Amino acid sequence: MASPGRVTCEGRPAAMAAVRRGLACRCPACGTGRLFPRFLKVASECPDCRTTLHHHRADDFPPYIVIFLVGHLIGYAILLAETRLEVPLWAHLALWPILTIVLCLVLLQPVKGAVVGLQYALGMHGFGAEGRGAPGP
Ligand SMILES: [Zn+2]
Repeated sequence: MASPGRVTCEGRPAAMAAVRRGLACRCPACGTGRLFPRFLKVASECPDCRTTLHHHRADDFPPYIVIFLVGHLIGYAILLAETRLEVPLWAHLALWPILTIVLCLVLLQPVKGAVVGLQYALGMHGFGAEGRGAPGP
């Protein structure tokens, strides 16, 4: 189901709506088509509205965001566990690496979707080329 949101004068969804759709791993234009046919592979076009999505340049930005978020969350949790609880060393060794890996894997796809959605909403990297009549890549 498409998420409601404002539309800019160029017919694109507002940045927050496109980011929200990307976070849900849906097409930033219509909000219904699947953005990822595989884990981190962005579809070349939306299967529902046929919006071309191949020009995104998310590159390393989603992993940077995920590392930043997970690092702060896990670091704070370790600090809390060390200062407030008496957690044995074996529990630290068993818990934190697994939780870090799981959190990174869970967050990577929606964060990449949000980055692609933001690029789409801002018309970055060729997303705005169709509206301006410029040739695509
Ligand atoms: Zn779509």
